[in-house]
Amino acid sequence: TSNESRERLGQLELSTSRHFIQMSAVYSTHFQFLFCILTLHQREALHDFAHFKTILLYLSPWVHLTLLSSSADIWPYPHEGEDPYSMEGIPEDLNYELQIKDGIIHVYENAEALKQEQAYRLPYPDLETFAIDLSHVLAMIADGPTKSYCHRRLNFLGSKFYLHEMLNEMAELKELKCVPHRDFYNVRKVDTHIHAAACMNQKHLLRFIQTTYQTEADRVVLEKGNKKLTLKEVFDNLHMDPYDLTVDSLDVHAGRQTFHRFDKFNSKYNPVGASELREIYLKTDNYIKGEYFACLIKEVAAELEESKYQLAEPRLSIYGRSASEWESLATWFIQHKVHSPNMRWMIQVPRIYDIFKSKKLIPSFAKILENVFRPLFEATINPQKHKAVHVFLKYVTGFDSVDDESKHSDHMFSYKSPKPEEWTTDDNPPYTYYLFYMYANIMVLNNLRKQRGLNTFLFRPHCGEAGSITHLVSAFLTADNISHGLNLKKSPVLQYLYYLAQVPIAMSPLSNNSLFLEYSKNPLREFLHKGLCVSLSTDDPMQFHYTKEALMEEYAIAAQLWKLSTCDLCEIARNSVLQSGLSHEEKKHFIGANYLQDGPKGNDIRRTNVAQIRMAYRYETLCNELSFLMDAVKTEFGQSSAQ
Ligand SMILES: [Zn+2]
Repeated sequence: TSNESRERLGQLELSTSRHFIQMSAVYSTHFQFLFCILTLHQREALHDFAHFKTILLYLSPWVHLTLLSSSADIWPYPHEGEDPYSMEGIPEDLNYELQIKDGIIHVYENAEALKQEQAYRLPYPDLETFAIDLSHVLAMIADGPTKSYCHRRLNFLGSKFYLHEMLNEMAELKELKCVPHRDFYNVRKVDTHIHAAACMNQKHLLRFIQTTYQTEADRVVLEKGNKKLTLKEVFDNLHMDPYDLTVDSLDVHAGRQTFHRFDKFNSKYNPVGASELREIYLKTDNYIKGEYFACLIKEVAAELEESKYQLAEPRLSIYGRSASEWESLATWFIQHKVHSPNMRWMIQVPRIYDIFKSKKLIPSFAKILENVFRPLFEATINPQKHKAVHVFLKYVTGFDSVDDESKHSDHMFSYKSPKPEEWTTDDNPPYTYYLFYMYANIMVLNNLRKQRGLNTFLFRPHCGEAGSITHLVSAFLTADNISHGLNLKKSPVLQYLYYLAQVPIAMSPLSNNSLFLEYSKNPLREFLHKGLCVSLSTDDPMQFHYTKEALMEEYAIAAQLWKLSTCDLCEIARNSVLQSGLSHEEKKHFIGANYLQDGPKGNDIRRTNVAQIRMAYRYETLCNELSFLMDAVKTEFGQSSAQ
């Protein structure tokens, strides 16, 4: 590395340390990682993080890190034979009060505390510090010497893997041949990014529509205005006979017409272009109380259970239009018994304030936040009164933020941005604004739930599929992992940071191929080889896939096109388990009891089918990059720090 780059690192440390120190306790592990690398101060690690031990090794001369031992699951999932919907043993009411202030829910111990505005201390990042830190990282990724440095390191990582492959390919293969029982087919794979409303393929949906028509044509399924319509009447109004339907006329598959047209893609959720059919078949809250949608999901779940080794993390929507959404979603989940051991649920919140505002459904942005988060606080404080939500939340592992990222926003996010209560214009807030307020509320909620001994939630937004590079910076500060990450291609500094911090990325090259980026140009292979923590996911099997096993289709196409080795594929599968919301117990079972340890020690080859040579290579390479950085820091600050 050049002296110039070393100097840059030094300057970064000086210019950013104030905020890093101040806020480190409330940021995500990735941000803390950055903090670890760039600052040399005593601090305490709050999370157990896969690579902390590695960092510890390099920081130990200067930094005192306390590593918390990996705790058992706060809330293990029900074992076989237990009732997953049991309402026994629900915790008592805490009698706390709630109030939303500057877009963030505050908790008060009693009415008196509320009156005196003395909120219960549940840490979260404040807007001003977040905005300043954001601008620091933005300055960093635009800095010339830093860009050159990262670009060169990334090139080096790519070439180094190429060399590793040439030297060790056969040795890796030999190792895998010796593993008894385990092969690519029976390693656990998690579909880390999939939307529930599109989790079945087009043929499946078609067959389901035809079956319901054959068996229940006279059932009332829709209320339009004051008129109740039977399934037969719905199809009569659409002038079609379900018997004649084909996947072509169903028209839910994305194709050439959707490229760079997210609007057209969104309309593909309407079978035959009819929103009535979406309402009947793909919604949880409709005249038939989401029965058909639940059936479809359960059929998908049954296939996963049969395949045994595949799991999925489908997203269900909470829009923030009304405060009753959680109650009805939870009731749907319990009533139709949607839980499956092979599925963990994520909640997606679409960024569509502008639509609700134009329909005059909400007065300000704060109302959306309140509708999304307040019911969760209420169910945490008084689960007895919100039993359904309380039970449903056991199976929810995180939040997602979704919508078309290529939509431009005129507003520049800063600490001067209007507070959510004051955000009353018709314009949609920018991506970063959504991310910050979701993250801050999740943070407060998690801290409250941790104190109650309840499960907490990850933040896993869609990010870097299209649009501004700023999105990836906001996610780096807040997210546990992201979906897509394509735009990391455009920023060497961010890509290198995502590598160093091992921020997991759920990639969906088939989805990208229909929407934003041709398959052959997809950076997945490049990212994987450099050592970024990537997994494969389907996004929307209904729109993109052809076969019954959409996730396998995804792996198969990637393997064919990029000539991925078995070890590559199993490494991706292992990454998918690591980054999923599965419980600690399950992860231990699926990828090995020591999976939290770094390097080959953390790998159980009999479960993952990933060669130890590969694990050692990844570990040594990451250590090498870290020691490179640390040497640079040492040169500049080692002596002064020692003094
Ligand atoms: Zn998606």
